Amino acid sequence: MVTAYIGIGANLGSRGETMRAALRKMAEAGISLAAVSAFYETPPWGKTDQPPFLNAAVRISFDGTPRMLLGVLQRIERELGRVRHEHWGARTIDLDILHIDGMSMADAALTLPHPYLTERAFVLVPLAEIAPALQVQGKTAAAWLCGMDTAGIVRAPELSLPYPLDLIVACDTAGGIGRAGGLLTDCPEDMAHFRAVTMGGIVIMGRRTMESLPGGRPLAGRENIVLTQTRVQAEGFRVVAELSALWTLLGQLVSAEERPIFVIGGAACYRLLLPYVHRAYVTRLAGIYDADVFLPPLDGFVRTKSRSGKDCIFEIYERY
Ligand code: ATP
Ligand code: CA
Ligand code: CA
Repeated sequence: MVTAYIGIGANLGSRGETMRAALRKMAEAGISLAAVSAFYETPPWGKTDQPPFLNAAVRISFDGTPRMLLGVLQRIERELGRVRHEHWGARTIDLDILHIDGMSMADAALTLPHPYLTERAFVLVPLAEIAPALQVQGKTAAAWLCGMDTAGIVRAPELSLPYPLDLIVACDTAGGIGRAGGLLTDCPEDMAHFRAVTMGGIVIMGRRTMESLPGGRPLAGRENIVLTQTRVQAEGFRVVAELSALWTLLGQLVSAEERPIFVIGGAACYRLLLPYVHRAYVTRLAGIYDADVFLPPLDGFVRTKSRSGKDCIFEIYERY
């Protein structure tokens, strides 16, 4: 496994949504996202007569060569509608490899570290947020940033929503989370834990999870959101068909007050939203329950808390 840093930039279209789509596609391509910076509004650099950019930096780990990584990033750029007009011109998405740990090279297709990394405040501001001590060409990212002109670079709070999401799940010792469309087992202690953790927050679920709720009713005391492409109408649930609609809705719900946002399942919902999850509450049930759906691996997370209950163990994982 290799650790690398990717710079993401966009200045055309729905910039934040395109950047999130790039993160999701990276995760889908087997690149594990270890840390994602906030999104920053930045003035154009080099060629200044173009719209402002959003920029972010991501720490990833992946299994493969630098050229393979570049290939994956360029495919994602193409899929997200990147058209190469002019050098340093406006673009829907730009994915640059900023740095790969222990790697330095300069061939026709790939220069590492990225040649302009140390000259660009719009790269160094997000990079220093997630990796201030990263050594680049003899100095840390934070040191390169020090004294640099950062005029016009500001965090874009509304666009850095929906970070962070929390995930909550119960799984057996094999990582199983469900069977035949329902929960693995009825564990009252875990039910109480789930209720206590999520109470007052926003819960996001897939359609089958919604249908599996007791009486088909929304969870009381929480804002219930269903993410599904199936047309459903259910009282007490807000239904969104895709991620961009989810972010818009969350922006409206969260701007009024800070409320935690929980992804509560099922497996497809966990997989889709995992790139945006910063904390995971995992209940470890004793035994193996012959599950048919499993929790996707929590790559890039470390366990930060563990507490033993009567019948199960309650753990918290956070992005490192
Ligand atoms: P800049 O490289 O100055 O940020 P840019 O991102 O606008 O400019 P692109 O048109 O996206 O440039 O890329 C031009 C070429 O740069 C790509 O085809 C790629 O082969 C090459 N390249 C060299 N080093 C890197 C790197 N570290 N990350 C991404 N692309 C690189
Ligand atoms: Ca670039
Ligand atoms: Ca590029």
